[in-house]
Amino acid sequence: MNLRSISVLGATGSIGDSTLDLVRRNRDAFRVVALTAHGRIEELAALAREFGAEVAVVADPERLSDLRAALAGTSIEAAAGPEALVEAAARGADITVAAIVGCAGLAPTMAAIECGRTVALANKEALVSAGEVMTAAVARSGATLLPVDSEHNAIFQCLCGNDPAHVRMITLTASGGPFRDWAGDRLVHATPAEAVKHPNWSMGAKISVDSATMMNKGLEFIEAYHLFPVGVERLRILVHPQSVVHSMVEYRDGSTLAQLGPSDMRVPIASALAWPARMDTPCAPLDLAEIGELTFRRPDESRFPATRLAREAVIAGGAAPAVLNAANEVAVAAFLAGKIGFTRIVACVEDVLARGLPPAPAALADVMAVDHEARVRAAACMEPVR
Ligand code: NAD
Ligand code: MG
Repeated sequence: MNLRSISVLGATGSIGDSTLDLVRRNRDAFRVVALTAHGRIEELAALAREFGAEVAVVADPERLSDLRAALAGTSIEAAAGPEALVEAAARGADITVAAIVGCAGLAPTMAAIECGRTVALANKEALVSAGEVMTAAVARSGATLLPVDSEHNAIFQCLCGNDPAHVRMITLTASGGPFRDWAGDRLVHATPAEAVKHPNWSMGAKISVDSATMMNKGLEFIEAYHLFPVGVERLRILVHPQSVVHSMVEYRDGSTLAQLGPSDMRVPIASALAWPARMDTPCAPLDLAEIGELTFRRPDESRFPATRLAREAVIAGGAAPAVLNAANEVAVAAFLAGKIGFTRIVACVEDVLARGLPPAPAALADVMAVDHEARVRAAACMEPVR
């Protein structure tokens, strides 16, 4: 693999950490350009120093002087605020890892895309919200979007350049989350501590709650719809509790290709970082004899209606996915803050969607406006915990 320059947006998060772990183990293969974070200044500054980054950016504009102080004595540039994030994303880097959580990552991700960069996309909320606005920007700028989400990375590998016209079915696998075997009435009482304890993966709090509600799989359904243009009817979800088969592609001739691997995000991240080559990871080899059994079942949308809502939103098109995503972000934050119960998360998303949709967004500014408006509506929909 030739030397690659890399920027990591969301460097202090779970995906950022896994990405930088791979960079650390392959120091000769990467040069770090920009690292960004929301507010963990000390951590960001330590990473920027360790990797000799060109620039470190904190999203909170109030923290610029703190960041400058933390980088004193180095030649690393310090910057702060949403515009600085966009500027950092637009800097020349061979690969930009989009690993900010939520729609907050949309503007920087779009900036990298508009500059025609190669973007390793973990930030699914950005693609879900922007949809065609993002895919049109990719087509216009010649950017390359490499999926990091394990399912989409698996599908990308299984498609391996095959014509999507030959695809009969794409199957997204889902672990089912920590509550997959819970009865519906027990879900009402699920706590934030229980929801963030994922059985197979170690991830940030927001995506862990999304896995528990299955909204993560709903968002991934929409993400897959945009990344792999085979149409809604050729996309399905299967619950696979072992998280070994990360997704599958069935072709018209009856062949199904699956990608398997350990539940370690460093595998799909490495696949994107080295693409189209391959690189080493420290992940334990897959021991199928030890795992013994791989099982699959259909999702239960009566207990977990999020995947139904997502499918309906992608079929409705226009602003619906952005509204669904924004309402979900607000509801998840309210749940984590102890303001609403677990089952209210998806109920709130459904309420906000049912109140009518704004016109389809045609540009980034429209997507941001839809996102903002849906957040206001979602906030109004929160009820205190009873
Ligand atoms: P995380 O919460 O661990 O980290 C989020 C990162 O984004 C942090 O660096 C944080 O500083 C930054 N950030 C948060 N809010 C911000 C804001 N308003 N402005 C700028 N930066 C902000 O999240 P994560 O688990 O690493 O997930 C990141 C993204 O990757 C999400 O979209 C998630 O759905 C996706 N993803 C994560 C995993 C996983 O295993 N963690 C797997 C697949 C996809
Ligand atoms: Mg995933």
